[in-house]
Amino acid sequence: MLEKIKKHMDKMPYTDRIGRIYKFGEYFPTELSPFAYNETIAFEENPMTKEEILASGYSWRDMETKAHSATLETADIPESINDVTEAICKETIACPNNGDPKTQCTSAFRILPDELSFYKQMKLPIPRYCPNCRHHDRLSWKNPFKLFPRTCMCEREAHGHNGVCPNKFETSYAPERPEVIYCERCYQQEVM
Ligand SMILES: [Zn+2]
Ligand SMILES: [Zn+2]
Ligand SMILES: [Zn+2]
Repeated sequence: MLEKIKKHMDKMPYTDRIGRIYKFGEYFPTELSPFAYNETIAFEENPMTKEEILASGYSWRDMETKAHSATLETADIPESINDVTEAICKETIACPNNGDPKTQCTSAFRILPDELSFYKQMKLPIPRYCPNCRHHDRLSWKNPFKLFPRTCMCEREAHGHNGVCPNKFETSYAPERPEVIYCERCYQQEVM
């Protein structure tokens, strides 16, 4: 059957609404996904505006607007966790990003009792942003799923290369980043 199915898929491929053709071997068309572009990791790794997403043939889902009005501003939360009481669990805290679609901001958030006891136990301050904004912020610390051709920056004489090491390789550290990058051989020699 395999040959027959392959031929059929190549002869009568699936065509999506902007004319993209999906033959044998292609990944599933995004149109068949139950999730909109901005609800998937694609949006985190390759952010686009709503307009760009729709123009690219992907779908967009607006955030549900929840009917909760904030009762506490971030600026009014005590600096130290020691000064925070159980009463904070009854508050709806306004997120300073105010519903920004870039971070999928939920505008407001609450602190759960178990969460508060964890912060108290670990001596951590109350978060100032909603969980989606915190997630977005954490992602900015992670390297992208992208590789850049770079050259080793090592100048150690003990490694046996004359001047700067000429080794070229691919890395997820973009060329404009401040970090010093080494090829695998120089790295291994340094950490041994
Ligand atoms: Zn937010
Ligand atoms: Zn090197
Ligand atoms: Zn080296």
